[in-house]
Amino acid sequence: MMLITCPWCGRRAQTEFSYIDDATARRPNMDSVNEAEHFKFVYERDSRRGVQYELWHHHAGCGKFFKIHRDTITHEIHATSKLSNGFLEGVK
Ligand SMILES: [Zn+2]
Repeated sequence: MMLITCPWCGRRAQTEFSYIDDATARRPNMDSVNEAEHFKFVYERDSRRGVQYELWHHHAGCGKFFKIHRDTITHEIHATSKLSNGFLEGVK
């Protein structure tokens, strides 16, 4: 079982958390996006392997959202961070 360190609650079992999305995904502006662009964003994004930034939710704990820098092949977690810090700075 993978252990995840919530920035507020500390280290807990993976079963307390939910994966939300790629933390680097840039959502289209819903006021101006057309149907084809929205479809592409929702259904045609890359599913990358390896180290990436992800959004997670501590649904069985504090209920907060946070970021994880994780290798999806080895499941090694390099860092977790509150959404408010500059965790993703420099990520393209
Ligand atoms: Zn928590």
